[in-house]
Amino acid sequence: MKVPYIVTPGPTEVRENVRLARAKRTTNPDLDLQFYDFYKETCEKIGEFLKTKNQVRILSGEGILGLEAACASLTEKGDKVLVIENGIFGEGFADFVSMYGGDVTILSFPREKKIDIDKLENYLKENNDFKYATVVHCDTPSGILNDIDKICPMLNKYGILTVVDSVAAMGGEDIRVDDWKIDIAIGATQKCVSAPPGLTFLSISDKAFTSMKKRKTPISSFYCNLLVWQDYYEKKWFPYTPPISDIIGLRTAMDNIKEDNKILERHKKIAEATRKAIVLGGLELYTKGGYSNTVTVFKVPKEINEKQIRKYMLDKYNILIAGSFGYLEGKVIRIGHMGENAVIHKIAYTLFAIQKSFEKHGFTFKNDMVKIFLSEF
Ligand SMILES: *Cc1c(COP(=O)(O)O)cnc(C)c1O
Repeated sequence: MKVPYIVTPGPTEVRENVRLARAKRTTNPDLDLQFYDFYKETCEKIGEFLKTKNQVRILSGEGILGLEAACASLTEKGDKVLVIENGIFGEGFADFVSMYGGDVTILSFPREKKIDIDKLENYLKENNDFKYATVVHCDTPSGILNDIDKICPMLNKYGILTVVDSVAAMGGEDIRVDDWKIDIAIGATQKCVSAPPGLTFLSISDKAFTSMKKRKTPISSFYCNLLVWQDYYEKKWFPYTPPISDIIGLRTAMDNIKEDNKILERHKKIAEATRKAIVLGGLELYTKGGYSNTVTVFKVPKEINEKQIRKYMLDKYNILIAGSFGYLEGKVIRIGHMGENAVIHKIAYTLFAIQKSFEKHGFTFKNDMVKIFLSEF
């Protein structure tokens, strides 16, 4: 397999020290008590990263497992759940809620903008008897970033538990779980964290755990049951054998992030320069404001076939970027500048390849994107 440069909005490039960490000799993680401390310390590091004192659990499955586990653990048949959405992942929460018998209310917002806080507030004044609400931080297919710093405290005020999918934002965007009152925040390894796909992690508030314990009916899943993880450390018992190599890799990736004390600034700078290059180059960004600093999404001009472009970029320049899916399929292209990919030379080369490939397919740029991008540094 010839591995291209992957500049997709996840999975991202994985640093060598993370790859090597995953190759280390391993112990029996169920029986060797040292591993319980290793796991606990890794969770604590993630908690620090998420700015929370809440408990953290790492589950063996990629991001989707985290989303489903949150819904499975909180939802009892007939529970009223508010799904606040302006994108594909946001909307997708409704499936998980109804799968576990929840009574879903979908509150939709236009997809090219971030969620309108005033409209949400007005809605909540009249409608607030929900057990919990779900919202996505960065909805990756469109690259929209929502103000979870405002949304979650507002929901909290009405006594609604908050579930946030920050899989594609955390690490590139600030997240303050305690300050913003997020009951369950969900992340995964393959986005800004820059470890291979395979793990999800969740911070879980005491209120969320209490709500799970107060259920009248058992959680109808084992793999998605967060409650079975609650006392693993005291009991020295994992519900299933943890994927130890993945967790060792994640630990190294978390250490990389901790050392990188300008990580948010770097994402911001790279993202702003990318957007500037795209716009002055003569292409159009998909969203109107609410740009995530982890991914740039731009519209594909009518005369261009995005699949052809991406194939050409891969064949000619060995670079892999993403189209999108659902209602955006064929309409946009996405550059993932998250984690290990949020560096000047990778994005400059990506813009170079985009420009060359578009030109080859008949598009005329107004400016040289690489030049504009580089002039920002
Ligand atoms: C990547 C991502 C996930 C995880 O889903 P996969 O498609 O399986 O990688 C969940 N939520 C968001 C917003 C994501 O970007």
